[in-house]
Amino acid sequence: MDTCSFCGREKNDVDLLIAGMEGHICNNCIEQAHAIIEEEFKKKGSDFNIGDVPLLKPKELKSFLDQYIIGQEDAKKILCVAVYNHYKRLSQPISNDDTEIEKSNIIMVGETGTGKTLLAKTIAKMLHVPFTIVDATVLTEAGYVGEDIESLLTRLLQAADYDVEAAQRGIVFIDEIDKIARKSDNPSITRDVSGEGVQQGLLKLLEGAVVNVPPQGGRKHPEQKMIAVDTRNILFICGGAFDGIQKKIAQRLNTRMVGYGASKKNENIDRENMLQYVAPHDLKSFGLIPEIIGRLPVLVHLNPLDRNALRQILTEPKNSIIKQYIKLFEIDDIELTVEDETLEFIVDKAVEFKLGARGLRSICEMIMTDAMFELPSNGEKKLVITREYAESRIDRASAQRLKAS
Ligand code: ADP
Repeated sequence: MDTCSFCGREKNDVDLLIAGMEGHICNNCIEQAHAIIEEEFKKKGSDFNIGDVPLLKPKELKSFLDQYIIGQEDAKKILCVAVYNHYKRLSQPISNDDTEIEKSNIIMVGETGTGKTLLAKTIAKMLHVPFTIVDATVLTEAGYVGEDIESLLTRLLQAADYDVEAAQRGIVFIDEIDKIARKSDNPSITRDVSGEGVQQGLLKLLEGAVVNVPPQGGRKHPEQKMIAVDTRNILFICGGAFDGIQKKIAQRLNTRMVGYGASKKNENIDRENMLQYVAPHDLKSFGLIPEIIGRLPVLVHLNPLDRNALRQILTEPKNSIIKQYIKLFEIDDIELTVEDETLEFIVDKAVEFKLGARGLRSICEMIMTDAMFELPSNGEKKLVITREYAESRIDRASAQRLKAS
């Protein structure tokens, strides 16, 4: 009779006995061994998991981001460390010593179309955690027209298929956080529906609280049963363009630089990219309340995208725009080639239209639409997009737009 080589039980005494090269193992011993492995991993700190996925180290996290996001080196580095620390914090068993790692929510400052959303999205993809994007402009204080602050968590719950445990480890990206800034530095007595009140409401979510969330969102279903969600371990990433903050930064730098040595330091300031000097104080001057700033301790800036970056964005990221078009045509057995000159032309147009990376896609769409319409039916198997062709499509599209306006 076969016996388990670990516990010695006979085949009849166990549910399952699995044969190996030189022995057997029973289901009980497999389960025990599994428990030991889990315990060991927990002890080891560095090998912790989020869900079932082992968490990568900051450098590995960054190489993942590098596949999708061009440039923004500082932002990527800071984000990777923040994310790593956040999930390291989650993996810590509640201990008796006094050192409690605080939450490291993130705020990203950068012009539109420089990759803020893309960064947040890519991080969530990499971590396999529920992720949602919400626009701060739709949030209002409870009782006003618009969405209650708790609706942020409704979306996260939906993204997690109502798995509360998973949602509590998720990421919420709050876009356009700058739009809920106080309109002036003086707190006014009258109610500021879209500004300070919303910031106050956000506070408790950011720092961590148990919040009752309406699973369907909104106030249309008053009968719905609330779900309690603990936000302590949810990572909040806020993003905003903060139009005009450059002036506040310049003012701060100038006032600090009056006096001895001032002129020398001033010379080194890169006036083209003031955002790189952004400090928490500037967010306050812009109209975020100090309590909010305190709960977003990781401040990241994104650089404006230059020609070179735009050119790279077209073809280099793992799911770059051009790669996407190639794939789209490939499905119809059509081989697409976009000439280098054409790519340069697309970048020129994006710069001209001042649309940043966002413009790249709409320009490509203008160029490709006719071909995407015609080719699947006319049997051609090769498509080469030359500069002349691209120019003619754009000219036509602009002409139509002019006519329409
Ligand atoms: P933001 O949130 O800063 O307004 P997005 O992240 O939505 O900007 O960027 C819009 C699009 O532009 C993205 O979907 C992506 O295709 C492209 N993009 C922007 N910045 C980058 C970047 N640094 N690297 C690669 N693609 C980028």
